[in-house]
Amino acid sequence: MFDSLSDKLSGIFDGLKRRGALKESDVTAAMREVRIALLEADVALPVVKDFIKKVSEKAVGSTVLKSVTPGQQVIKIVNDELIAMLGSEASTINTLGVPPTAILMVGLQGSGKTTTTAKIAKRLTEKDKLKVMMASLDVRRPAAQEQLKILGEQIGVKTLPIINGQMPVDIARRAMDAARLQGFDVVLLDTAGRLHIDQSLMAEVVAVRDATHPVETLLVADSLTGQDAVNVAKEFDAQVGITGVALTRMDGDGRGGAALSMRAVTGKPIKLAGYGEKMDALEDFHPERVAGRILG
Ligand code: GDP
Repeated sequence: MFDSLSDKLSGIFDGLKRRGALKESDVTAAMREVRIALLEADVALPVVKDFIKKVSEKAVGSTVLKSVTPGQQVIKIVNDELIAMLGSEASTINTLGVPPTAILMVGLQGSGKTTTTAKIAKRLTEKDKLKVMMASLDVRRPAAQEQLKILGEQIGVKTLPIINGQMPVDIARRAMDAARLQGFDVVLLDTAGRLHIDQSLMAEVVAVRDATHPVETLLVADSLTGQDAVNVAKEFDAQVGITGVALTRMDGDGRGGAALSMRAVTGKPIKLAGYGEKMDALEDFHPERVAGRILG
């Protein structure tokens, strides 16, 4: 994960550590290289600028430069600012409320929405011991509802029986009613995606939101799409209101631009990270650990 960014940063910081004593110009030169590395990783420009400014302000102070290990001090500052950029503390999925609580899964087609829905269902069932139901509201893509049903069978989680021809809002209402009657704690609603954001998609998601009052609206985004993932999150937040982000395909992301920009640009936390296709390849997003991996 984030290997290419991590390699570049360790090259820069190894240089700083080797120098021993540091002058202000050494730090400035290193920050110029860090700036390039972050931009190449597809981190949003305003986020990069803010990051470099904060690190530089703290790093060029005399206490750092006159310390015994100035290189280490600079790296510590970078580490702290990376954690702040990633969102400081880990935040988990919210399931609190009068059961059944709804979790709305939104995002573009192919982002990993259905897979992530099933991964979350498995986690809530096995780890949190909750009674979970899943329902696919995707009536556009043939076999989408069937795909969720198959995943449900694999992980032992109930899916709402499919009734062909029903509209998304009606399926969502039916899911909530069934869950209420049958004593479920949580209903995961997997909405339809599109290749691009369009108004009918947004209207559909808003209608489902208003019918189910979700405690979580999670935007599923593909980390490999970098800043596009951040723009999608911004758009969904503006139109639907999201409570957090699940970032998928982190296992293949060498750059890290989406993860590093998401919180700063959208103000919403990354709650979950997908690390593979398997049903248990889902982790809570821990800013500290991610920063640690980036800095090696
Ligand atoms: P949807 O159209 O948004 O519902 O996307 P799907 O859930 O059908 O996922 C599309 C593809 O991405 C599938 O082949 C998934 O197995 C794969 N996928 C989903 N999440 C991850 C992940 O975190 N890592 C990897 N490597 N593949 C993933």
